[in-house]
Amino acid sequence: MDVFKFAYFPFVNAAAKYVEALDFKLDELFSERVFEQVRERGKNRVLESIGEGITRNVSPDRVSSEKELLSYPVARILVSCVNDGYLIKRYALSEAKSAFEAVRELREDELKEFALDFDINAVPCEKGIEIHFTDYIRYASVIHEPKWKLVNRNIDNGRVSLSREDFSRLMEEAIRKKIEHGLPLSVPPEICASMGQYLEEIRNALASRKSEFSIEEFKEIMPDCFPPCMIYAISSARAGVNLPHSMRFALVSYLLNIGMNTDGIVELFKVSPDFDEERTRYQVNHIHGATGNTYTSPSCATMVTYGNCYGKEALCERISHPLSFYRKKAWILKKGQH
Ligand code: SF4
Repeated sequence: MDVFKFAYFPFVNAAAKYVEALDFKLDELFSERVFEQVRERGKNRVLESIGEGITRNVSPDRVSSEKELLSYPVARILVSCVNDGYLIKRYALSEAKSAFEAVRELREDELKEFALDFDINAVPCEKGIEIHFTDYIRYASVIHEPKWKLVNRNIDNGRVSLSREDFSRLMEEAIRKKIEHGLPLSVPPEICASMGQYLEEIRNALASRKSEFSIEEFKEIMPDCFPPCMIYAISSARAGVNLPHSMRFALVSYLLNIGMNTDGIVELFKVSPDFDEERTRYQVNHIHGATGNTYTSPSCATMVTYGNCYGKEALCERISHPLSFYRKKAWILKKGQH
C-alpha cells in the first residue's frame, strides 16, 4: 500500500510508520501554520462523525493524500482531548463506516495485506474470501443479523467463506474495534490547550447531538408524532405479529426514550393475541436495564440495516433517528397551533 491508500486507511500500521517517517514533532502539527489545513480537516473529521458521517476527502495527488492521512492523528487527538465515551464510540464507528467502500474496492493482493494488519489470513476463493472461523467469530459476534451467526455460514476445514461484501462488513467491524480500543490517547495538556477553539466547536456539536436524545425532554407522550416505523411496529405487535428481536428492541427502547413507563408499554401490547404479561414485563425491564439506564433506541441507519425501516415519509429525509422524527414532528405540530 502507498500514501494514496493510506489516505483511505490511516489506521493501518504501515500508515502510522509512514507518518513517523515524515519526521516532524507532534507540537508542530498543532502549532505550525503549514499544518493549518490538516488541523481543520482533523476537526471536520470529528464534526462529521458527530453529524452524518465522515466523507473521504481524497484526490489523487501526494500532497492532498498526505494531508488527509495526517488529519487522522489530529482527529484522534481532538477526540482524546474531549474524552467522552459516546464521542469515542461514534467516531470509531464513523471512521470504520467511511472505510467500507474503499475496502470493498481493494485488489485481491491489497485486501490480503489489509486483512493481515488485523491478523486475519484472508484467502481469495470462488465465493469471495475465506478466513479462519476464529477470526470470523472475533468480529462477527457483535453483528446481530441472523446470517452472521456461525451456524448460518458455510464452514470447510475450519474456514468460513464470505462474499466480498460480507468480508468488507466484517473488516468494518475490525476497524471500528481497533480505533475504539486505541482511544483515548494520553495527550499532553498543552496540546489540548492549543486546540481550545476546535474543542469548543466539537463540544458544542456533541452537546447538541446528545440533547436530541435527552429523555427528560419528552414530558408527554404524543402518539401523533411517532415515526412510520414505530407505528408499523406497534400495529404489528397489536395484531399479534411476532416482531423480530431487533424490532422489538427498537420499539421498546424508543418508547422508554420518549418517557413511557413499563406499565404503559405492557398495556400497549395487551391487545396482542399471544400476550403474556410476565414475559412482556420481563423483556421491557431487561431493556430498561437493572440500573434504570435506558438504551438509546437505534438510529435510522441501524433500522435500515436490520430491515426495520418501514413506510418512510417526507420528514424521514430530514432526520437520522426515530427520536429526531418525534421531536421534529412535535415541534411542527406545536408551531401549527400558534
Ligand atoms: S427513516 Fe427513520 S424514522 Fe423514518 S421510518 Fe425509517 S427508521 Fe423510522
